Amino acid sequence: MAARRPGAQVLTRRFTTEEPAGTAALAHDLGRQARTLAQAGLMLGLLGDLGAGKTLFVRGFFRGLGLPGETPVTSPTFTVAQRFDLPGPLELHHLDLYRLGGIKDLEQAGFEDTCGAGRVTCVEWPERAPGALTHERLEVRLEIPPTCAPTAEPLKRAVAITAYGPRLSDWLKGVVVGAREVGA
Ligand code: ADP
Ligand code: MG
Repeated sequence: MAARRPGAQVLTRRFTTEEPAGTAALAHDLGRQARTLAQAGLMLGLLGDLGAGKTLFVRGFFRGLGLPGETPVTSPTFTVAQRFDLPGPLELHHLDLYRLGGIKDLEQAGFEDTCGAGRVTCVEWPERAPGALTHERLEVRLEIPPTCAPTAEPLKRAVAITAYGPRLSDWLKGVVVGAREVGA
């Protein structure tokens, strides 16, 4: 096996949720425990098909970080980015790159300013702008498992959380959540 670069540590934990509230609770648990990470900055990429639950996850994560329940967190697809300011101070950024027309859109959304200390940046569809995410990041992959009954609305989700880099891997290893962990 090739020697690992220092800082190249990667860790994945997998969960399943049975309904939207379960995904929101998982995201909230993670957000609450990510408050300490936010001081040095945190980037989070959200992967998954349309309707997989990316925006719902960001909402729960931001609530866990302290965003009040009455502040709406909706899909910023048409605006590309939304920003919320919390005491601390802490800046929460939510980007959706689904309709990204080019790297200029990203610059116009102030992306360069959304990395760094005191900032949490959640990016839906990061694959639309390769290289937009820093190496050190969390990735959340949401999948809708195939269902036997095509008429039934699928409520289950497989949620894989991957941490890149030693700081986030150590954090993810110690995180305690209520959601059912697969293969734990
Ligand atoms: P995305 O941002 O990935 O396009 P959204 O978060 O906007 O998706 O929407 C996800 C939709 O899927 C919501 O309508 C939500 O109620 C529904 N849903 C059903 N089951 C789940 C689940 N277990 N976890 C997350 N969302 C779910
Ligand atoms: Mg969305």
